[in-house]
Amino acid sequence: MRAEAVALHGRFGEVIAGRLIELAAVSDEAGGLTRLYLGPAHRKAAAMVSAWMREAGMTVRLDAAANVVGRYEARPGATRTLLIGSHIDTVRNAGRFDGNLGVVTAIEVVRAASELSKRFPFAIEVVAFGDEEGVRFASTLGGSRALAGTFKAKALDEVDLSGVSRRQALLAFGCDPSRLGDEARSPDEILGYVEVHIEQGPVLEQEGLAVGVVTAIDGMTRATIEVDGVAGHAGTVPMSLRNDALAAAAEMLLAIETRARSRPNLVATVGKLEVPGAAANTIAGHARFSLDLRSPSDQERLAALSDIRDAVAAIAQRRGVAAGFLIGHEASAACCDPRLSDRLAAAVEACGVKVRHLPSGAGHDAMAFDRIIPFAMLFVRCRGGVSHSPAEFASPDDIDVAARVLATFLDLIGAPP
Ligand SMILES: [Zn+2]
Repeated sequence: MRAEAVALHGRFGEVIAGRLIELAAVSDEAGGLTRLYLGPAHRKAAAMVSAWMREAGMTVRLDAAANVVGRYEARPGATRTLLIGSHIDTVRNAGRFDGNLGVVTAIEVVRAASELSKRFPFAIEVVAFGDEEGVRFASTLGGSRALAGTFKAKALDEVDLSGVSRRQALLAFGCDPSRLGDEARSPDEILGYVEVHIEQGPVLEQEGLAVGVVTAIDGMTRATIEVDGVAGHAGTVPMSLRNDALAAAAEMLLAIETRARSRPNLVATVGKLEVPGAAANTIAGHARFSLDLRSPSDQERLAALSDIRDAVAAIAQRRGVAAGFLIGHEASAACCDPRLSDRLAAAVEACGVKVRHLPSGAGHDAMAFDRIIPFAMLFVRCRGGVSHSPAEFASPDDIDVAARVLATFLDLIGAPP
């Protein structure tokens, strides 16, 4: 390996960390990082990223979905392209690593190759997506869906809080929404998509690993459970004669937790419990709670969902309450490509890190390519597993490992099988 990659050891981390600090200063709000799709900070960040891409030897364009696309040409005779990307939009009061890390890391890895005049048997396009977090408009992944060819034109009519439509915002940004369909990439032309992203969870930190290889982006079920009991006086109704909706909901919540704990690769969260008209001296007549169920395996998730429905019904029956189960949103898991993930794992190993495979509980641009373009993801350890917060942090050392893994991965997929 890869005299080049070894020679680059220790150089990437500080450079990337420094650029992330520069980029984090570009915000729609003073005193924190907020960068919404097609807003003023997005415009400035896109310009900054474009300049870095040019300096790194890429030709740059802003596509119809406001993705910044930097292209590094292949060695002569090659016809395919590898996409490497992540996003530069953020949540409100964000951390500086979510999304931005993947974009800046990709640029620096290309820069390192470019400085050595090194070309690959495929072109590289580094893509800075702008619409991953879905904060401004109702739908999300507008940028990556455009490349996947799955962007729905009706999303152009979505309006933000000020009544500005996605179409108007794109036009004001200098993009032509009528050309969105032209951004679709053909799987024949695209070798794959790779994304480096902070883990946004505590697993790698727990296991003392700088990076991990993603297996799949979790599928998800969201549901609302309505529990109807009988309201009553807290003093006069004997315990044996109650149909307490809140106590029933509490038991259901614990049953959900127990079911989720029974399997790895399954997480269930009741994040919201409401008791309309609640009072300290009233037995709750009605309670409502949310369910968020995720797994990298659709089979696991659907089996858990079925068990949870049965448990909720059994608890309701025993307690003499009614329980309604309303499914709100379902998405199947997006699996990483085994071949690309194998190469990524080999690159992790070559960089001296034990290979840890883990699912992603959060959504990412990569999932827009599910079943269209093969994709792989590398997670980077983040402190305390904290994300979507100014406290988000990945160390320059870990970032350095991630960049070296990406550089090594480029060599490995370029090599004959
Ligand atoms: Zn992200």
